[in-house]
Amino acid sequence: MSYIVRAMTRDGSARAVVIDAKSIVERAREIHSTSPTATAALGRTLTAASMIGSLMGNSDDLLTLRFKGDGNGGTIVATSDYLGNVRGFIQNPNVDLPLKSNGKLDVAGCVGAGQLYVLRDLGESEPYVGISDIVSGEIAEDIAAYYAKSEQIPTLCALGVLIGVDYSVETAGGVLIQLLPNADEGIIDILEQNAAKLPPLTTMLKSMTPEEVLAEFLKGIEYDVFDKMDCEYLCTCSRERTANALMSLGKKELEEMIADGGAELSCQFCDKKYKFSASDLRELVKGINKK
Ligand code: ZN
Repeated sequence: MSYIVRAMTRDGSARAVVIDAKSIVERAREIHSTSPTATAALGRTLTAASMIGSLMGNSDDLLTLRFKGDGNGGTIVATSDYLGNVRGFIQNPNVDLPLKSNGKLDVAGCVGAGQLYVLRDLGESEPYVGISDIVSGEIAEDIAAYYAKSEQIPTLCALGVLIGVDYSVETAGGVLIQLLPNADEGIIDILEQNAAKLPPLTTMLKSMTPEEVLAEFLKGIEYDVFDKMDCEYLCTCSRERTANALMSLGKKELEEMIADGGAELSCQFCDKKYKFSASDLRELVKGINKK
């Protein structure tokens, strides 16, 4: 099980979220059979979505990150609920890029240049959509840039996915620290100094819990941990939702599927298969006619 720890500095200058997302990213890898580069790109996106999602207030709220770049991986999507439960996919899970000269996975090449869309569905008719340019394609910098430009919230974001020799996920996690209005300048200085001194997050997560990582980022600052939440890779698809999606295609499409003898749809988030026979599809057409 993955989990999120949330904290606030005692003077109210900043809030912090740290997640151990290893099980989430490993589950995504199993479902989508991702290459190492795709595991890292999708894994970082899932990790960020889970942390940002956990900052929402209500049980129906949904947070979606969509990286629409021109890199080899194609579009990357991750959707989280308010507890940090998350699901996602990458358009090209087989993306295979040479390692960078420093020996790291080329996540930026996988993502490419383009836009980051941040959608908040808060149960109203239209979701709130924020858009910003992808600045590096390394995901964490793009999240921080989005917050700075679109929401005017100074944000420190660190994300890490470490892939083992057998391509499974060795460690994965993230840190998100946001300044609140009227944050104390002294606290800001300490946060920046701490972040500059720390080793890469994947290194820290090898031997440290999220609570210990949090303590390193907030060293020298008084803070309170206010909760710890379990979260996981969770898909919300169902046969009923799939049927609704089929109906929304319209009668003509359904008639074609009936002529083909039925249809099988797989969920793009969890790869679950939903079979609809010709007679199932005829019932859906009847449903459309009734509307
Ligand atoms: Zn699903």
